[in-house]
Amino acid sequence: MQTEYVDIAIPEIGDNQVLIKVEAAGICHSDVMALQGKHPYRIPPVITGHEFSGTITRVGSDVKDFLIGDKVCVEPQIGCGECIYCKEGNYNLCNNKALIGVGEWIGAFAEYTVAYPSMCIKLPDQISFEEAALFEPLSVGIHAVEMLNIKRDSNIAVLGCGTIGMMTLAALMTKRPKKVFVSEISESKRMIARKFGDICTLNPNDQDINTVIMDSTDGNGVDFVFVTVPVESVLQQAIWLARKRGIVSIIAVFESSIALDVLYLQQGERKVVGSSMYTIKDFYTAINYRLNGFVDFNNLITKKISFDKLGDNIERLAKGDMKDEIKIIARL
Ligand SMILES: [Zn+2]
Ligand SMILES: [Zn+2]
Repeated sequence: MQTEYVDIAIPEIGDNQVLIKVEAAGICHSDVMALQGKHPYRIPPVITGHEFSGTITRVGSDVKDFLIGDKVCVEPQIGCGECIYCKEGNYNLCNNKALIGVGEWIGAFAEYTVAYPSMCIKLPDQISFEEAALFEPLSVGIHAVEMLNIKRDSNIAVLGCGTIGMMTLAALMTKRPKKVFVSEISESKRMIARKFGDICTLNPNDQDINTVIMDSTDGNGVDFVFVTVPVESVLQQAIWLARKRGIVSIIAVFESSIALDVLYLQQGERKVVGSSMYTIKDFYTAINYRLNGFVDFNNLITKKISFDKLGDNIERLAKGDMKDEIKIIARL
């Protein structure tokens, strides 16, 4: 598979839509998976890209809250508004939601895309377009963290510290927990993780994570474990690391079902929960974290490229290059 630059018409907008000139867009692992033909619903030929910010250049006649020239970041999903999940406000779980960069809906790896006003947030002036492209992946971490009742005395383990692990770490450090352990094989990622605070980083290839974490928690295990990589052994380990009544949160997207130690879960009243994407509330939290200086975005954007290098960079990622990058942002 390869990437290709094509000429397309500037999309038409409906009465309740806005046209957005994309200014900055981040490469997500799902864009790479789409190129590899491994993504369940980003199926080539497709224009992907869903982590972005831009400027509104056209507004539909029914749009009231936005004007031409507004700087926005965009939540790249919209629910049907009809199903029980949409009615509860959990439209990230909608049975019929639509996503930017899926199917016909042109993604952010294009000069223009279309969105509904409910998906757009006006950006404060002090936030750059590059930073704003990070609100989407950061919202994934925030959503997972906000689902749990993390307190100042909580002990936490994050297993895997790629982009999603890093975003989860950034979000959970705002809760100022007691002890945080990060398990990650890449040395440079462990180094970046330590910039988020007093974090015990572990290399699972040469340390017995279980022993270290048990020894530092009086043999109990941690209150919360985040699984951010879709690896069977990692999920199994996560359950062993959770204390009784502890919670294992799965953020990683697994491709197949996995056998778990059900007896250990049941006897210790441990819980396993999933966390999927976010809602716009999480974007507002992300923006507040940026405005209050709770998250240093410079640690998360590890590479900036121009739009014409986007295809090349996605292809290199698909080949397994640039393993140490956290977030690559293209400027359009
Ligand atoms: Zn993504
Ligand atoms: Zn719905």
